[in-house]
Amino acid sequence: MRRARIIDPFEPAEIRRLVREFGSPLLILDCARVRAQYRKLKRALPRVNLHYALKPMPHPAVVRTVIEEGGFLDLATSGEVQLAARLGVDPARCIHSHPIKRAADIANALEFGVRTFVADNPDEVRKFARCAGEVELLLRVSFRSPGAVCDLSRKFGCDPEAVLPLARGAAELGIGVRGLSFHVGSQTPDATKHVEALEACTRLMAAARRERLGAFDTLDIGGGFPIDYARRVQDIGRFCAPLRAAIAKLPQRVRVIAEPGRYIVGPAAVAVASVMGRAQREGHWWYYLDDGLYGSYSGQLFDHARYPVVPLREGGELLPAVLAGPTCDSIDVIAENLMLPKLKEGDLIVGRAMGAYTWASATDFNFFPRATVVAVNTRRGDGSGVVETLP
Ligand SMILES: *Cc1c(COP(=O)(O)O)cnc(C)c1O
Repeated sequence: MRRARIIDPFEPAEIRRLVREFGSPLLILDCARVRAQYRKLKRALPRVNLHYALKPMPHPAVVRTVIEEGGFLDLATSGEVQLAARLGVDPARCIHSHPIKRAADIANALEFGVRTFVADNPDEVRKFARCAGEVELLLRVSFRSPGAVCDLSRKFGCDPEAVLPLARGAAELGIGVRGLSFHVGSQTPDATKHVEALEACTRLMAAARRERLGAFDTLDIGGGFPIDYARRVQDIGRFCAPLRAAIAKLPQRVRVIAEPGRYIVGPAAVAVASVMGRAQREGHWWYYLDDGLYGSYSGQLFDHARYPVVPLREGGELLPAVLAGPTCDSIDVIAENLMLPKLKEGDLIVGRAMGAYTWASATDFNFFPRATVVAVNTRRGDGSGVVETLP
């Protein structure tokens, strides 16, 4: 057996080595950092079961790392169910949180063994009438969050006033309701909205229990936990302090779960792109990279993120520069008005905090393939990279 070797894959020498081995563009996913993020959030919310939401980075190495840490999963699609099944995850550790599902999505999740589902309207509740004995529901409630970078309560969730009628409908069909869920939005600046939603849900759960509408002993506080990009955010311990205080006031029998996505994977990956060519235009050096807005940097469009981007080359005179993606589309520009050393073909550019909503929303527009994801520091303690095929 090879000796286990811990490396820091974000160090320039290691980045160069991994690009030599796996090519460019590359997304280097450091499972040691996934573990560290998981542990930090768990320390900040000790009473909360953390269900990693696969959406920001549905990669087997992340799923395995979270499960090895004793974590849980939040699945939302049949593809995510398939991935969890392929990795042999215990379905009892999974919930299905998409409020709108096709019959086949429900069937796939049930066949895998998932029992907890989310619904937010009467039609969706009725989809469980035929399997009432096998499932328990969380009703998703909407609390608008205009302050969040991504408000996730516009598209899903019922008004707080609709919760009890919805629960009555489920009870009439013999469908057990386990509790409520919410997602106040992603990359929220502070936990004010989480706390407001938690308190409103606590009152609704008590009312539903008084009416004997179901167990109502589970509260799912969603995701939204913020990370540092170009702009820094509160440390997670401080961010969660008001939430911890609110959770401490809940009756002991209330089980609290969360669905963190971004926080677990965002800081755990860097994107590495290479300069394909360059040109001088209007006093600026334009560098054309093999990854861009249609690839790993898609999060700049869809997720409204701004990643810290730096060349590995250091020193030399700083000149006005533009970093552009590889496609023939003129919107495919990563960053402008930078001051960079003069770069050459083959020079590497590194984007930090690029684990969440980057590769996951990348396309292969213009036939530029998505970056290869290489996972390092997987459980075996092995610093060599692993590339896995995805479903
Ligand atoms: C996207 C999503 C998450 C993850 O949110 P983050 O802000 O990345 O933590 C969790 N739950 C649901 C239902 C989601 O849609």
